[in-house]
Amino acid sequence: MKGEFDTKDHLVKATAEDVRVFAAVTTDLVRDGVKRHDCYPVAAAALGRTMTGALLFAANLKNKEAVTIKINGGGALGSIVADAVPEGFVRGYVTNPHVDLPAKSPTESNPHGKIDVAGGVGRNGLVTVTRFTGLKKPITGSAEIVSGEIAEDLTNYLATSEQTPSSVGLGVLVGKDLDIISAGGFLIQPLPNASDSSITKLENNLKTIDPVSTMIENGLDAEGIIRELLKGFDQINILSTTDLAFRCHCSKRRIEDTLMTLTEKDLNNLVEDGKAEVVCQFCGKKYQFSKEELVALRNVGLGKVHL
Ligand code: ZN
Repeated sequence: MKGEFDTKDHLVKATAEDVRVFAAVTTDLVRDGVKRHDCYPVAAAALGRTMTGALLFAANLKNKEAVTIKINGGGALGSIVADAVPEGFVRGYVTNPHVDLPAKSPTESNPHGKIDVAGGVGRNGLVTVTRFTGLKKPITGSAEIVSGEIAEDLTNYLATSEQTPSSVGLGVLVGKDLDIISAGGFLIQPLPNASDSSITKLENNLKTIDPVSTMIENGLDAEGIIRELLKGFDQINILSTTDLAFRCHCSKRRIEDTLMTLTEKDLNNLVEDGKAEVVCQFCGKKYQFSKEELVALRNVGLGKVHL
């Protein structure tokens, strides 16, 4: 965070002429997620991009709806999973946070060298997106991974699986000491009636703008990013701003529900061990269970006690 540009994580929705844009600054929540899961740089960048993508995908959902993005390209990172809700909360994890790959050669715009996200994600697998809406069954779609860089994969997913032409940009800048210097992203969708001149303007802007992590490092907030993306558009309408945070909705009660799905044998083993510790996969929170609690859970699980 840089002095006068000290901004909290936030997402801004805007429209201009025949284009819709969402942009987000996610530096703090990515830092939070990366710390919780002790991610090395490749995992930090992959998790940060996926969580930011999930928040952008959630932005046009209704309250109480949710979206899950799962990236699995067959690479060393395993799966990268993020859940987000339109209220601005996201949680996520990566199967193997300690993957370590050498950075690609440094360039002028990337003096630390580019983190090899695609090398960790792999290019042989799927992006799967599940939307939890008011319908009884969630809607799941998937598309092949095309680059392993995540933003391109989400753009391709929207085009092929949801028939929505769009452009997704995601960036996470990781410092030498593993601190997150900046993180954020954007999602642009030309509306169905968008004119050729709007598309051309957008394409030109996308070619010339800085990477999103650089814009944020330089102090731009989400509205500033939108104004860069929409240079040359007459009227930009800022529709809303939402605060963002890493937040998991796990609870001891939910973990108990999971424990009760274990077999009688497994529950008996836990009781014999005399205690159990269950770690939430999404946020790393540890839940302790005493012998008495495990006995009670086993008895409920076996139908001996009716609560
Ligand atoms: Zn949790």
